Amino acid sequence: MSKKLLLPAFFPDATYGTIHSVPLHLLSPTIPGIIVTTLHYHLLNLDAVPLRKRLPLLQDKIILSDSGGFQVLSLIHNSKKGKITKEGAFFNFNGIQVKLTPEKSQEIQHNIGSDIRVVLDYPLMGHETKSTIKKSVEITTAWAKRAKDTFLQLLGISNKEFAKTSPVIKTNSKGQKYIQFDRPLLFAVVQGGNSKEFRELSARQLTKIGFDGYGFGGWPLTPDGKFNTEIIKIFANSLPKNKILYGMGIGTPDDIAKSVKLGLTLFDCVIPTRNARHGLLYVTKGNGETYGKHFDVLRIRKQEYNNDLRPLDSKCNCPVCQSYTRSYIRFLLKQKNPVGFTLASLHNLYFYLLR
Ligand SMILES: [Zn+2]
Repeated sequence: MSKKLLLPAFFPDATYGTIHSVPLHLLSPTIPGIIVTTLHYHLLNLDAVPLRKRLPLLQDKIILSDSGGFQVLSLIHNSKKGKITKEGAFFNFNGIQVKLTPEKSQEIQHNIGSDIRVVLDYPLMGHETKSTIKKSVEITTAWAKRAKDTFLQLLGISNKEFAKTSPVIKTNSKGQKYIQFDRPLLFAVVQGGNSKEFRELSARQLTKIGFDGYGFGGWPLTPDGKFNTEIIKIFANSLPKNKILYGMGIGTPDDIAKSVKLGLTLFDCVIPTRNARHGLLYVTKGNGETYGKHFDVLRIRKQEYNNDLRPLDSKCNCPVCQSYTRSYIRFLLKQKNPVGFTLASLHNLYFYLLR
């Protein structure tokens, strides 16, 4: 199963293997792959059959699965419906009592048949005390070791073989970065909140265990809610330059551009589809309302677009911009017509994927 991934890459979020509002075949020529949500997938017993068998469309795509850690964060921290111990995470999900351990998370991802798997971590919201950050880093490192042991067992390979077959980032003749790999990959998640000391400690401990890539765990935000470029820089500088650094859940087109400059090469985010459904569409600079450094937006539900017969973005080659007007997409979204959600999401994903 030799796979190649051109970098930087953006993976749309596809909770159960399907992107919200967008049938996969409409996007498949442009996407390197999708990211599926391990916990949701497992709790509906979908992992009894590998995802590629259910969805042959994914045959040549890369399936990335999360560890379930982020759902743990939202369920335990936000709704206080569980606890984290050294053994694992215990919580209530839609009335079901769930015990998620680093081993279990790997088993589920193995059953999904994903190509990039992530170790279970102990994520934080970013406003915790030093003692909680310390605990998060300790547990994250211990769980990463356990997850790697399970991963090696499931693949039937030794740690030595893992290291030997771990892909490094190369550059092709066109100057584009890529990795090529012949076995599923295992990524660790660096914790440490907004503390330089703990981010570096977490990165050091995980690098020592050795992984195929490293994710930025937790929220990359300053206490006042702005994108924390400084902590991303510390994360990137603490890790091997020839491995994939993964900006988990990042972000706006500007946040992604800043992260790419700092050396991150892999991203996933719900923003393009979620915002599309709410009528916030991304367009190239000079083609909409001033918003970010690298992009403008259309708040397409506004009255001013009612009779606007131009495409969403005259510089966009997506199928939506070839065939629909701003006026008509506004009409569909105002009507809450599902086709409107699909068209708006499709355009926003193209915007993310093709830059
Ligand atoms: Zn478009």
